[in-house]
Amino acid sequence: MRTESEGQMPAEGDANPRRLYLKEPGWRVAQKTDSEKSYCYMMTPGQDFYHRLLEGEIYFYHGTERLCAACAGRRGLLSHAAKPLREPLDTIDFDAAGPISEFDLKAPDDGGRSS
Ligand SMILES: [Zn+2]
Repeated sequence: MRTESEGQMPAEGDANPRRLYLKEPGWRVAQKTDSEKSYCYMMTPGQDFYHRLLEGEIYFYHGTERLCAACAGRRGLLSHAAKPLREPLDTIDFDAAGPISEFDLKAPDDGGRSS
């Protein structure tokens, strides 16, 4: 049993995007928006030609070097995991700040006192 609105892949949009991270510094992401011929800088394994980047395609570039997403992934430029933020922070020792009681946190609010 199945409903029309659930459990079906949309007719278009067969991509299954995930969060993606560019690991290599200097590389940029762009979308090919014109129909001018340009070619991926890498060959797909099993092919002996450089394939074209097609209109609308997301690609990665560095200088004049352009890579389609598949080749960029194959080359190890992409990752589905975020880089760790620098080094892990030291554990913050809350005790070092001294005990905080609720009285310390209470804002002075005894009304009309001005010094
Ligand atoms: Zn490619």
